Amino acid sequence: MTTATETQITHWIAGGPDETPAERFGEVTESATGRVVARVPFATAADVDRAVQAAVAAQREWGAASLTKRTQVLFGFRERLDAAKEELAEIVTREHGKVLSDALGEITRGQEVVEFACGLAHLLKGEMTPSVSGGVDSHSMRMPVGVAAGITPFNFPMMVPLWMIPIALACGNAFILKPSEKDPSASVLCAQLFKEAGLPDGVLNVVHGDKVTVDAILGHPGIHAVSFVGSTPVAKYIYETGTRAGKRVQALGGAKNHMVVLPDADLDLAADSAVSAAYGSAGERCMAISVLVTVGDVADRLLPKIRERIGRLKVGPGLEPTSEMGPLVTREHHAKVAGYVEKGLAEGAALVEDGRKTKVAGHEKGFFLGPCLFDKVTPEMTVYKDEIFGPVLSVVRAPGYDEALDLVNRNRYANGVAIFTNDGGAARRFQNEVQVGMVGINVPIPVPMAYYSFGGWKSSLFGDSHVHGREGIHFYTRGKVVTSRWPEPHHRGVNLGFPQMK
Ligand code: NAD
Repeated sequence: MTTATETQITHWIAGGPDETPAERFGEVTESATGRVVARVPFATAADVDRAVQAAVAAQREWGAASLTKRTQVLFGFRERLDAAKEELAEIVTREHGKVLSDALGEITRGQEVVEFACGLAHLLKGEMTPSVSGGVDSHSMRMPVGVAAGITPFNFPMMVPLWMIPIALACGNAFILKPSEKDPSASVLCAQLFKEAGLPDGVLNVVHGDKVTVDAILGHPGIHAVSFVGSTPVAKYIYETGTRAGKRVQALGGAKNHMVVLPDADLDLAADSAVSAAYGSAGERCMAISVLVTVGDVADRLLPKIRERIGRLKVGPGLEPTSEMGPLVTREHHAKVAGYVEKGLAEGAALVEDGRKTKVAGHEKGFFLGPCLFDKVTPEMTVYKDEIFGPVLSVVRAPGYDEALDLVNRNRYANGVAIFTNDGGAARRFQNEVQVGMVGINVPIPVPMAYYSFGGWKSSLFGDSHVHGREGIHFYTRGKVVTSRWPEPHHRGVNLGFPQMK
């Protein structure tokens, strides 16, 4: 049921809001109250085609623009993003539910990627070798792929699009973003800020939608590369469908991040870290800790500290400054996470903290679920095997280091992992032996800085490239090597043999 106060969101095509009447819509809810606050149009194949036409028309000039011009646009965007942070964070909090400080944090992490991309003149440098043969020089160049598209998840409505857009644009591409339909508003404001910064119309477009829109993107011959971030089944589908259509695809999937605590660890640091990393953003982070692996006798010493901290957490609406943990994103997601708590109980795990009892006065229709803690979880249980993506932490007790490592390495996901110990040798051994893309040592959420690349292994990544950093630059460019002879050609006559450099 929609209300008169609800916002009408639009696509952003060819430098402005797209006024074409939509055939289908989705509803955006405010997570803290459960109210419908916006209607979002779902793009058809024809809408996607309009965005692609705008992108193709704009890309040629943008790809040929001087690096100075491109850098100035990125700097201009960086300034505007900085000035609009509070406004953007409020939009993110309203639609996603995360607390305001967390929304500001994700914008800052996205801004760091913009700052990295501002160094594009350095990042796009090729190599040059003079005299590879008599009078012959060689140099390499990195060229734009053309039109790239990004399909992003609900949990970081600003940061994840900003993992992609600044790098793709810096490399001279046009970009089409398909943000999550659950919290799509921030992405349109982001496109407007790019326009204000001087980005030519059509270089950045935003189309909203669901699977129909995504399929139109994957099947469009005018799109050359697709970046995806979301759940594993969809990531696999995007990778297989996109590559079959001849596109370059990087598809980052789901996660089940373990935190291993060795007996010699600082247990107060470990307790602070586990609670922050498991329940921050209500566990809706791809780098959230969802499995705590206690080694030896750690569980009995660590769990009281964790439970004490859980007891002090303030669950409430994200816009209230005292709240530390907000609601889940949608009613459906709330039901799914609560269903996992039921499942854990049914399968015999010990629910030592039950967040289902948490009530937020005045927000009875909000999608709140308090912190849940399961002890004595085993690897066969559903709460261990599945990505829950909510405030549910499972404790698995391992007798020793080898069993803990084996548990992590047998998991199908391999996004992030952390080890807590004061033994440098053990930490070093773990960093080398663990089969996971991002490793923290006494750091629970080891998200790499923008100048490194972000991404996991195994079912957490389909494709070869991680995002941003050097791999991001490579993903959005194609290599070219030029071999040139100036100015005196050698006239050696026709030679049908394989070219040899002398
Ligand atoms: P999701 O896979 O449901 O949706 C992601 C995007 O795909 C959205 O834009 C959505 O509209 C689209 N989509 C959904 N179903 C589709 C389908 N059947 N066919 C085509 N497109 C479809 O993910 P989500 O619920 O929005 O986000 C949470 C997930 O994202 C979690 O699994 C989380 O771990 C993952 N994630 C991973 C990373 C990472 O870096 N690996 C980062 C953030 C989130």
